[in-house]
Amino acid sequence: MIGITGSNGKSTVTSLMGEMANADSVNVGVGGNIGFAALDMLANNHDLYVLELSSFQLETTSSLDMTAAIFLNLSEDHMDRYDGMEDYRQAKLRIFDQTQLAVWNQDDVQTKAPESVNAISFGFTEGDYTLTLRDGEEWLTAKGEQVMAVSDIALVGRHNVANCLAAMALADAAGVSRDAQRAAMREYRGLPHRCQQVIKHDGVLWVNDSKATNPASTLAALDGLQLAGKLHLLVGGDGKGAEFSSLKPALDKLDVALYCYGRDGDAFTSLVAEPIVVDTMQQAMDIAAKTSKAGDMVLLSPACASFDQFQNFMVRGDTFAAYAKEIAARHSEESISG
Ligand code: ADP
Repeated sequence: MIGITGSNGKSTVTSLMGEMANADSVNVGVGGNIGFAALDMLANNHDLYVLELSSFQLETTSSLDMTAAIFLNLSEDHMDRYDGMEDYRQAKLRIFDQTQLAVWNQDDVQTKAPESVNAISFGFTEGDYTLTLRDGEEWLTAKGEQVMAVSDIALVGRHNVANCLAAMALADAAGVSRDAQRAAMREYRGLPHRCQQVIKHDGVLWVNDSKATNPASTLAALDGLQLAGKLHLLVGGDGKGAEFSSLKPALDKLDVALYCYGRDGDAFTSLVAEPIVVDTMQQAMDIAAKTSKAGDMVLLSPACASFDQFQNFMVRGDTFAAYAKEIAARHSEESISG
């Protein structure tokens, strides 16, 4: 049994690890906080269980007997439930009490396992799973072995390079072959609602990152973004008591129109000089459709939960995608009749 927790990247690492095991023809069950409930999976008699574990689940779990467990990263989230960051961190650290091998992130010391636990680490510059150079190119490197060029990873974004290092550490612990790990990393393009391209219309790209439910995940979407035109960024919803000033430096680097909607939309208005404040995501999209030009991107990466206006982040993302397509279709008709 393998367990995965962290503020961001849990589902990506869990499903990538599942793809690696599948590529090795392992009878694997993937679930927990994603897809199948952990206890429902017991009936299926898998040889390997890969479980995404939220801090809420870890609070009430004490008897998992895992082969390896990982704490990916810690950033502000769920401050409406916890008594500060340390309280939240302690809930996540419970994962290391129930495993033979702990995996932590060198780039985020808050994830470090206690001395008493058998531990390894991953990180961009240090750790058992890290990056090294070959002919000027970055390579994923496992305990000194150069495994694959970073440019061969199918997932996009720097945060996903970290997610690959994490998945490799877990796959090694589970005995999944290196070839299977490579095959999965070359093929796997990620889950829906995570920086997913929805449509390109009149040169404007509409991107659904509805799964960005906290500031760190929105920061990951903005990290390294290079656009010919303007970024129309849609933020807001249920902020879960978070503070959003960490987004400001990234926004300052971009030519951005910031649309603030939903219950906690007001919490974002101080981040830019001229915020566009609306009630709903769809109103923001209507304005973005009218004002965007070729080379622009309309990005839903709200840094908030969806519960004030949607059933969940999936419904929010599906609504965004459907409405973006509707806007594009309407616009095409207008162009034809005009
Ligand atoms: P989780 O299951 O922990 O919510 P996901 O894999 O579903 O994580 O990704 C959630 C959001 O966080 C997405 O917007 C994604 O782009 C971003 N993300 C994924 N991995 C990381 C990471 N390692 N660090 C920061 N953000 C990440």
